[in-house]
Amino acid sequence: MRVLETVAEFRKGRREFVEEFRRTHGRDPSIGFVPTMGALHSGHRSLLERAALENDLVFLSIFVNPTQFNRPDDLAKYPKTLETDLALAEHARVSAVFLPSDGQELYPDGYRYRVSETEVSQRLCGLSRPGHFEGVLTVVLKLLQLARADRAYFGEKDYQQLTLIRGMAEAFFLDTEIVGCPTVREADGLALSSRNLRLTPEQRETAPELIRAMTEVSDLEQARKRLDEKGFAVDYLVDERLPDGRRRRFAAATLGEIRLIDNIALPEENP
Ligand code: AMP
Repeated sequence: MRVLETVAEFRKGRREFVEEFRRTHGRDPSIGFVPTMGALHSGHRSLLERAALENDLVFLSIFVNPTQFNRPDDLAKYPKTLETDLALAEHARVSAVFLPSDGQELYPDGYRYRVSETEVSQRLCGLSRPGHFEGVLTVVLKLLQLARADRAYFGEKDYQQLTLIRGMAEAFFLDTEIVGCPTVREADGLALSSRNLRLTPEQRETAPELIRAMTEVSDLEQARKRLDEKGFAVDYLVDERLPDGRRRRFAAATLGEIRLIDNIALPEENP
């Protein structure tokens, strides 16, 4: 596995992997790409495994993207576990890890050029995290341009993000297919998230109440009350239909400093 630390190295490395594959197999490889912010867990692993199953080569990126953080403390405290990340990647048969060593590497333009979306990005997480999705879409477009993968893999855990990335790929005629993967959960139901590493043991015990309230209580006011009582500050808890046409229940709530999000599919209403 190669670790590539600049845009130039990643481009060159990609070319070399493709040429090497051509030489040994007599055809072009298919490429699967998994962009992440590191602190890898089994959710990320599931994306890498799916990518390995469906493609000849798998590229992973690890980049804590500064432009998608609307709070400087959240960026500064984002967990970093590089050594175990690289071991996980190696184990998942990743060919190359793009690991920009400098926060500015992906922003030679100084973030003057941005991708924005005007509807879906203004709802749910977009309301409490101004600029977040603009940062996400911009960095994902840059990464997709560099990886030039056949398929890129994203988790349903961040369903609003997945919807926006799908929409961007369609709107800009990107050649990469956007593949959504199911949310991976702990045994107690808590959706895996790098930010879970920052929960205190007490908060970790309370955290699965979020998905319990979402699934066990059908009345949203009741569910919100239950979460308030458990010590969550609820940002939103709503049933919405995003442009992909499926109704889902979305929630975001903070426990102490840590913002947790989750979403589940809802049964379709009878016509
Ligand atoms: P992140 O490193 O948090 O930016 O996440 C990188 C990718 O992993 C995104 O596409 C996420 O949606 C996905 N992901 C994060 N947590 C999970 C999870 N629990 N299950 C499935 N995918 C996940």
